Amino acid sequence: MTHSCDVAVIGGGPAGSTAAYALAKKGWRVVLFEKERHPRFHIGESLLPMNQPVFEQIGVLDEVERIGVYKPGAEFYDVDPKQPPHRFYFRDALDKNFPDAYQVRRDQLDEVLLRNCERNGATVCEESRVTAVDFAADGAGATLAVQPKQGDAQTWAARYVVDASGRDAMLGGKFGIKRKNQRHASAAIFGHFDGVPRNPGPEAGLISVCWFEHGWIWFIPLPDGMMSVGAVCSPAYLKTRRGSTEDFLAQTIAMTPPHVQQRMADAKLVGEVRAAGNYSYQCERMCFPGAILVGDAWAFVDPVFSSGVLLGMRAALRGADYVDAELRGAPEAVALRESFERISRRSVKDFTWMIARFNSPGIRHLFTNPGNPWRVQEAVTSLLAGDVERDNGVRPRLMFFRGLYYFFSVLQLPAAIREWFRRRARVRVMLNSDTGAAPEA
Ligand SMILES: Cc1cc2nc3c(=O)[nH]c(=O)nc-3n(C[C@H](O)[C@H](O)[C@H](O)COP(=O)(O)OP(=O)(O)OC[C@H]3O[C@@H](n4cnc5c(N)ncnc54)[C@H](O)[C@@H]3O)c2cc1C
Repeated sequence: MTHSCDVAVIGGGPAGSTAAYALAKKGWRVVLFEKERHPRFHIGESLLPMNQPVFEQIGVLDEVERIGVYKPGAEFYDVDPKQPPHRFYFRDALDKNFPDAYQVRRDQLDEVLLRNCERNGATVCEESRVTAVDFAADGAGATLAVQPKQGDAQTWAARYVVDASGRDAMLGGKFGIKRKNQRHASAAIFGHFDGVPRNPGPEAGLISVCWFEHGWIWFIPLPDGMMSVGAVCSPAYLKTRRGSTEDFLAQTIAMTPPHVQQRMADAKLVGEVRAAGNYSYQCERMCFPGAILVGDAWAFVDPVFSSGVLLGMRAALRGADYVDAELRGAPEAVALRESFERISRRSVKDFTWMIARFNSPGIRHLFTNPGNPWRVQEAVTSLLAGDVERDNGVRPRLMFFRGLYYFFSVLQLPAAIREWFRRRARVRVMLNSDTGAAPEA
């Protein structure tokens, strides 16, 4: 027997649940397939101010604020422990209207989003893995093979498919269009800890980012006194792991500046330490006849600016507008598809430029010794807030920031050249190998 729906969504992360919500609200019969059962662990816990309007739009803002830890901004520590951290507060962005952000446990956030799309009319099938998708030759719909954890395999016919399968990138793999990022190679190792002190007072919710020899470490304050701690490093470094992931994270933390180590002095691991190997990639296309790719299923660069959830949810909303128009046969479908693709690509590009240079001496210098000529620091704070889609003066200032970066890189040429060679070496290792030694999160 073949079941049918208008739209099949693969994956119940933030992008899939948001797309399912938006399309169900527009009246389509939406079925979302999620291979796990929520709540389930996921990495990606620090959110941005521009998430707030998206949460409001889909009606979950109150719930997110209830499960979240208030995040007023971010602090960046230099390798040199004598340097004080540089703190960015979202209230100092170019647009002062979005000062609030939250940090969340993803098992909780993703469950809120999944139940929200269900409440709003989408059918949710958990523990149901999509194992194959075949598209009709004339572009008129697709057939999905679904394997529930319990029970027999199912066949579903859908007029449209939204691939939100995250880093599994189901359609990207099927069509052979997933490309590793040539300029950036990173891997990560991370866990949840109890007993890690927070900053005092209103700074308690800041995300801390600390550079060290092999990359950078994050501290993300979570509810119930928990701290998410992770290291983003080169895949080559991750491959040197011999013992357990737990020991490896401890060894990695032992390489960090003393103030980072001190913070971990009484830390107790809760749960397991996980790792994610080479995760920087982009699929060549976002749209096919009968399908779109949203969120990590299309592209993921790096977590340093906490942009993944925001970019995925925004793309899901724009993608849903396009799919809706396409299903209705509306003439505006072409324009909606173009803006879906253009804005998604541009946003990823804005973050990518900064991320690819994040460990460079030029960026370190600008982040730890910032000035505010032509309100450029406010524009950088706007980028950190995720405010890169609107036409509000952020982009030209970010171009100016790039100019400053190149200027300081010339001043620090030997260090910049060393970093350039390191980046090239990391990319070569990444291109020659698939993942780090540790299992994927
Ligand atoms: C180390 C690290 C740290 C990060 N930190 C941050 C951060 O602080 N802030 C931030 O915003 N982002 C962060 N991210 C990025 C963030 O995790 C992702 O961008 C975000 O989760 C993308 O959402 P998504 O819905 O596209 O994919 P996902 O959240 O990965 O959801 C995909 C879902 O699809 C399901 N699925 C996969 N294949 C199938 C299938 N065949 N059938 C059915 N279901 C399937 C999966 O089980 C999963 O639930 C981080 C990423 C990494 C690697």
